[in-house]
Amino acid sequence: MNNQIKCNVKTCMYNENNRCSAECVEVGCDCCNHPKTDHETQCCTFKKK
Ligand code: SF4
Repeated sequence: MNNQIKCNVKTCMYNENNRCSAECVEVGCDCCNHPKTDHETQCCTFKKK
């Protein structure tokens, strides 16, 4: 495991037992550059299994 990221997105190919196995992770926003809630942010590295 290359990072210390915990993640519960089980549909992502990088998820291994609730840990992220990606070499690096990019986090962004799917709506704007000024998110106000956690629902407005997203993991851009997500890849569907
Ligand atoms: S790439 Fe993103 S969504 Fe996928 S396991 Fe890592 S942190 Fe979770």
